[in-house]
Amino acid sequence: MENVIVPAYNKNEEEEKKLILREYRALLRALKQRIKKGDKRLLRRAFEIAADAHKDMRRKSGEPYILHPVAVARIVVEEIGLGVTSAICALLHDVVEDTEVTLEDIEHEFGERFAKIIDGLTKISNVVDLKADTTIQAENFRKILLTLADDPRVILIKLADRLHNMRTLGSMSREKQLKVSSETSYIYAPLAHRLGLYEIKSELEDLALKYTQPEVYTEIAKGLKETRRDRTRYINEFIKPIKEELQRNEFEFDIYGRPKAIHSIWNKMRTKHVAFEEVYDLFAIRIILDSTPEREKEDCWKVYSIVTNFYRPSPERLRDWISVPKGNGYEALHTTVMGPGGRWVEVQIRSARMNEIAEKGLAAHWKYKEGQPIQQESKLDSWLHHLREILNNPDTDTLDFLQDFKLDLFTEEMYIYTPKGDMRVLPKGATALDFAFDIHSELGAHCIGAKVNYRLVPLSHPLKSGDQVEVISSSKQRPSEDWLAFVTTAKAKSRIKYYLKEEKRRIADDGKGILQRKLEHLKVPLSQHNVAELCNYYKKSSPLDLYYAIAVGNIDLKELKDFAVHGDKISQPAREQKTEARRAHAEEEQVKQKPAKGAELIIFGESSDKILYKLAQCCQPIPGDDVFGFITSGEGLKIHRTDCPNAAQLLAHYGHRIVKTKWAKNKEISFLSGVRIIGLDDVGVIQKITNVISGDLKMNMRSLSIDSKDGIFEGNIMVYVHDREELDELCHQLASLDGITNVERFESSETK
Ligand code: MN
Repeated sequence: MENVIVPAYNKNEEEEKKLILREYRALLRALKQRIKKGDKRLLRRAFEIAADAHKDMRRKSGEPYILHPVAVARIVVEEIGLGVTSAICALLHDVVEDTEVTLEDIEHEFGERFAKIIDGLTKISNVVDLKADTTIQAENFRKILLTLADDPRVILIKLADRLHNMRTLGSMSREKQLKVSSETSYIYAPLAHRLGLYEIKSELEDLALKYTQPEVYTEIAKGLKETRRDRTRYINEFIKPIKEELQRNEFEFDIYGRPKAIHSIWNKMRTKHVAFEEVYDLFAIRIILDSTPEREKEDCWKVYSIVTNFYRPSPERLRDWISVPKGNGYEALHTTVMGPGGRWVEVQIRSARMNEIAEKGLAAHWKYKEGQPIQQESKLDSWLHHLREILNNPDTDTLDFLQDFKLDLFTEEMYIYTPKGDMRVLPKGATALDFAFDIHSELGAHCIGAKVNYRLVPLSHPLKSGDQVEVISSSKQRPSEDWLAFVTTAKAKSRIKYYLKEEKRRIADDGKGILQRKLEHLKVPLSQHNVAELCNYYKKSSPLDLYYAIAVGNIDLKELKDFAVHGDKISQPAREQKTEARRAHAEEEQVKQKPAKGAELIIFGESSDKILYKLAQCCQPIPGDDVFGFITSGEGLKIHRTDCPNAAQLLAHYGHRIVKTKWAKNKEISFLSGVRIIGLDDVGVIQKITNVISGDLKMNMRSLSIDSKDGIFEGNIMVYVHDREELDELCHQLASLDGITNVERFESSETK
């Protein structure tokens, strides 16, 4: 994909040959300690096959293509810490896809083990096409994850491949840069994170940012460069006393300051609404100890005690990932202390072993697992196990799964205990019901409540890290649709959806029976044609939906007598007259039919009798906002803002359920809207704000809450406005008040 074919003839051929060999030798050097008897021959063979297969190919940058697989192999060995097998597969990773070499050739030459990995690599190659049909995209994502559960090396080599492509993205077209970068931040960076490959994850994110938002990237990079000298001076000052004390205590260690990744600085600027100058933690201090596995925990705490003898720690920012490692295997002690000049500084303390796991994640994890007495199943293993379980469930809807799973990738973890004291890791925000599903699908399905720290709570109760939870279940309990609203884990969601579908199928069976009997009266069979004809007439997207609607009485089949019968086929009557049934199931249809094709739906801000709709709670649109209508499956038509956080997903996945929508001009109804203001706390500020709202603009305010801390106040105002124009005017006037630094609209549902 990323290569162009050029004639083999090239003046600099000799020079290039030298360069290629140099790179290959560097790979051998990196592998040195791990090369066993016979490995060298295999490596050489892989290199020769790849070099020969790619000999006429060049990358967009003009360099010989073979440099790419060699570079990928080096990343695999040097940065991920994998061995000879993976290096060989990396060398060969593009040959089956891009050249004449076949999988059989590989198997013949190297054996089945290698062929399997290469096959995996070929299958997932370039599959995440964001512009592709979302279903295909989701299926591909699932393929990647399945491979991961099968042999994680495939994913690790794929990550190395992606990293090298990102590092060399400069010579690609702008369009290609954007596509590859968004894929990278969409899937590869989160995967790297989940596998504990922190270095690679940060580099991928930084590079993706560099290409998707070049101005932002350059601004931060420039800022970092300009402040480097001050930073180095500060770090040295901070480190000095700690270093001396550690030496006095005869520790073997390494201590240094490490700048934060550009992407994470940008994240902070974005989420906290601050400028670069206001991000105070541009670096972290790292202390890496040479210690034995038996002593490392104790040693890390000793170092912690030394650090906090010099600098006061912030008690709520101590993270002990040594006693309880993160789900991806990460171990370390993190603390934030008050450094010289009153600046908060993060200090990370870990042993050399922990450091290797932090940098190389999964691979290092394997390395340390071998040769150790079998411990409890590591978290990463159980994560892979869990993944395999979900993926192998044939009824998982891939698209939904993709959404749910992505959420899992990004969320933080908390630790929940069973009544016996066993620990489970759940994403932050998980509820009692999530916990029940995490223990066992059946337990989740029959869960009626829980006791959290001995107190009875409902299913929807959100858990906190450290909670001890006892699940209460009943054999009579069944999962219901509303459960989906308060579970957050992919596992719980996919299991509930599965149960609901089963349930629907069971009910639909009755409907199928009813239909079959009715058709028998007409002396026609329940054939594919006849069912399709009925689905069409009753506007049902599948036979299952049709049977279900019949079973629950939404369709009574009265109109069946109007159908024409030709032999064993029925055909639907002409549809002029409005029949009973059509009205009965017409909430969706009404909306579809009212605005003629291509026309716009005009809404008035309040549901009229003609068209029923609701304003979406997630974005709370008001007249003047750009909006669209969305036909929901259970709640009729909903109006969303086009910049609603849910809009992209709705527009992308359900284009056919979108109704073009426009506001009617009227100023009779007012809408509750939220405005958040941030500014310097000063006497009379409330007075000034209320003056603008009630005095100048004569608006109705419903509530005003002010939270003030350290001289900064944050105010949330709920106010009634007629349309966007009024709201903009209000924001404008508030922003021009003295001392107000930030004014923005918000949706009340997002307030805490
Ligand atoms: Mn490649």
